[in-house]
Amino acid sequence: MTGQKIDGIAVANAVKERVRGAVKALQSDGVTPCLATVLVGENPASAVYVKNKQKACTEVGITTKDHKLPESFSQQEMNSLIDLLNNDNTVHGILVQLPLPKQLDEFATISRISPIKDVDGLTPYNVGLLSTGRAILKPCTPSGIMEMFDYYNIDLTGKHAVIINRSNLIGRPLYNLLLEKNVTVTTCHSKTQNLKEHCQKADIVITAVGDRTKFVLTADMVKDGAIVIDVGISRQDSKLVGDVDYDSIIKKASYVTPVPGGVGPMTVAMLLKNTVTAASINKGFGSGS
Ligand code: NAP
Repeated sequence: MTGQKIDGIAVANAVKERVRGAVKALQSDGVTPCLATVLVGENPASAVYVKNKQKACTEVGITTKDHKLPESFSQQEMNSLIDLLNNDNTVHGILVQLPLPKQLDEFATISRISPIKDVDGLTPYNVGLLSTGRAILKPCTPSGIMEMFDYYNIDLTGKHAVIINRSNLIGRPLYNLLLEKNVTVTTCHSKTQNLKEHCQKADIVITAVGDRTKFVLTADMVKDGAIVIDVGISRQDSKLVGDVDYDSIIKKASYVTPVPGGVGPMTVAMLLKNTVTAASINKGFGSGS
């Protein structure tokens, strides 16, 4: 059996098309969705991520406000900037690119963002809503994965998923989103024992380790017909690679995401979707343009 490649670019394009329509509808109501990006320091990977997100915004008609701050930016300055953006009626979404330099407290910074402008879905308020099944703004990578299942009409009910990651960005929100869809979820991490056995029992394996010296998902670790989602990103000989041994697993699985061209494009597409959702919410609060 040879499985099907899940084409993240195609799914992302379908999301972007819907976002374009939503932007036009908002514009006809006098609201132009706007994302404020906050990048601190000179981390080259972060700079590329922010640039790609801004470019994607422009493609669908979302405007951006770029805040590029020096490496020495203080917590006090960060707090003032977030307060300013929270109170700016022309800004609908706030994206603080992580990681932040050491002097800045990531939790304090994210927590300060207004929940209705929290397009990464990472504020404690939105995390709480997610864990009670009521979230509107959901973390981009996990909700992008759910969108892929939907696009390929994959029925999740009753399936058993193994997630290899327990971060606030990926594993924890994904656990809640899968649970909402009646999936039985096992969360694994670096201290999990018998990881291979857990994976072999799973209908769905979602891996997000991002370091092939620590972990690679190989064909002997998944059962026939498994659905395999590769979130991991690392570099090998200057090439982008995931956690999955794609060429061997595609011969055994029913669906597999590639790297690149899998989950990555979905993360950006869901950010755009969250930004128009935030603009609609903000409009409801009477802030407009
Ligand atoms: P992270 O916080 O470092 O999480 C890595 C996870 O892998 C942790 O839960 C860790 O366990 C687990 N782990 C490490 N070694 C392991 C091992 N040998 N066996 C089993 N589990 C192991 O990183 P993150 O922010 O969640 O990101 C994870 C990866 O996803 C990175 O490669 C990142 O670049 C990528 N990513 C991709 C996208 C995308 O759009 N495709 C978006 C965001 C992130 P512990 O908790 O025990 O340490």
